[in-house]
Amino acid sequence: MIIKKDKDMIQNYFEDNSGVRGSNADLVAIAEKEEDISIFLKEMSAKKVPITVAGALTANTASGLAFGGAVLSLERLNKIGKIKKIDESYALITVQTGARVSDIKEKAYSEGWLYPPDPTEKNAFIGGNIATNASGGRGFKFGVTRDYVEALKVAFTDGSIAFVERGKYFADKNGEMTFNTNKSKKNITLPRYVLPNIKNASGYYNKPQADLVDILIGSEGTLCVFIDSVLKLIPHFKEVFGGIIFFDDKNKTYEFVKRIKSISKRAKFENLKNSINAMSLEYFDKNALSLIKDDYKAIPESVEAGIMFEQDVYEDNSDVLMEEWVKEIEDNGISLEKVWFASNFSEIEKFRVFRHKIPEKVNEIVKKNKIPKIGTDFAVPDSKFFTIVDFCEKEFKNVGVFNLTFGHIGENHLHANILANNEHEYEKCRKMYIRIVQKVVELGGTVSAEHGIGKLRHTFLAKMLGKESFKELAKFKKSFDTSGILGVDNIFPKQYLV
Ligand SMILES: Cc1cc2nc3c(=O)[nH]c(=O)nc-3n(C[C@H](O)[C@H](O)[C@H](O)COP(=O)(O)OP(=O)(O)OC[C@H]3O[C@@H](n4cnc5c(N)ncnc54)[C@H](O)[C@@H]3O)c2cc1C
Repeated sequence: MIIKKDKDMIQNYFEDNSGVRGSNADLVAIAEKEEDISIFLKEMSAKKVPITVAGALTANTASGLAFGGAVLSLERLNKIGKIKKIDESYALITVQTGARVSDIKEKAYSEGWLYPPDPTEKNAFIGGNIATNASGGRGFKFGVTRDYVEALKVAFTDGSIAFVERGKYFADKNGEMTFNTNKSKKNITLPRYVLPNIKNASGYYNKPQADLVDILIGSEGTLCVFIDSVLKLIPHFKEVFGGIIFFDDKNKTYEFVKRIKSISKRAKFENLKNSINAMSLEYFDKNALSLIKDDYKAIPESVEAGIMFEQDVYEDNSDVLMEEWVKEIEDNGISLEKVWFASNFSEIEKFRVFRHKIPEKVNEIVKKNKIPKIGTDFAVPDSKFFTIVDFCEKEFKNVGVFNLTFGHIGENHLHANILANNEHEYEKCRKMYIRIVQKVVELGGTVSAEHGIGKLRHTFLAKMLGKESFKELAKFKKSFDTSGILGVDNIFPKQYLV
């Protein structure tokens, strides 16, 4: 274990993508081998020193930032094992927690496999992705990180270790579960709150008869430390094509998305090989497009919204599938002149750069203005999508501050970014954000579908689960982390940890 205490040497552990200032710790412990983790956890536990696990520190919620105590960094545990083919439909790969997602994806690709989760930030570590249950643009077809984690090796703060395979430990009908680590037996009871049945990254997972693997995923560094994970890979698509469609009418955009979603769902359900079955459906509003107009001068002048789609291809039927898309586009009254097409991997990469340019530009403005952005991460059920869009539009109009919206429209999961110019505007927008959160909750949605709660969204989680649930969350955490030192202030406020 490497221990660093010199302030100049550890400064880079005190910043992530949240813009939160004031992070600090007495020391940073860098694990060199797996055994270091459990020894360190046990030692800190005995001394009651809070530990914050740091991955690549790319989170937006300050969840990897310490405020006192120790940082445990896993950057050196980055081995990626051999790919083991199970059958034609999937393979497994064991990776250490500090492996970068980009490296895992590349290794899989080099052998014809796909690690499907596709968060925009590929420098993140797999441990961070598992701790936040990260997802991304291709979640529309492939789902989230949870869907590809088959087993986890984890360490608890009592110094014990468990190898937890999917399908081994389930909660019973009362939400209770007992499982063994190498040194102890743990008894846990799931919290009783009900989570919406949509894409969600808010609060501990607690579905009926939940699998222990699922419970640990998305726990934001509060229950255990991930050491290794066994990930599922699926066959990589042979080819890919896609398009960016520019609309001059927002309602037409939504209608088109609705139609593609319905066709894609049917194709998936019925395994229709020659039907549209989108891999991603991403939305950009007028302001998002105007933000990158200087870089992409060909964006049409009178544009109200845009949709980027990707279609993965597994057989020699690219042409048939492309024809289906063209037909659907034309049938929806969209002129092909308003569509950019990408017909292979390298062209699609350019579209992905186009998509990523928007958050990049937002970050540039935030840095220049020195005022944090307000960025939504909500998702709502299908039937409530138009209601929330209308609600947000009215709120944006009333508040009158520059805003733009983009994101995963296929999953009703939009990132609205509101960019205040000064403290006064920021305060107005913060209040507006609370109103939006309230509405999302009323509509049965989630306050965070992708980035998690971390240290910044406690208030939102309280609106979603009820303030009483914090006590339950704390109790639940302590059944794993008996000394209550891990990831303190993540998910719920630290004062509940008594
Ligand atoms: C430009 C940009 C784009 C992004 N796009 C996406 C996106 O599309 N989708 C998405 O979901 N997120 C996205 N993110 C957010 C971020 O990349 C994810 O939250 C990511 O999963 C964080 O991983 P990390 O390794 O950086 O973890 P960190 O930021 O270091 O930590 C995040 C949390 O994970 C915990 N943690 C880390 N490692 C472990 C471990 N081994 N054991 C236990 N807990 C651990 C930490 O304690 C903390 O609670 C984006 C961020 C940026 C900067």
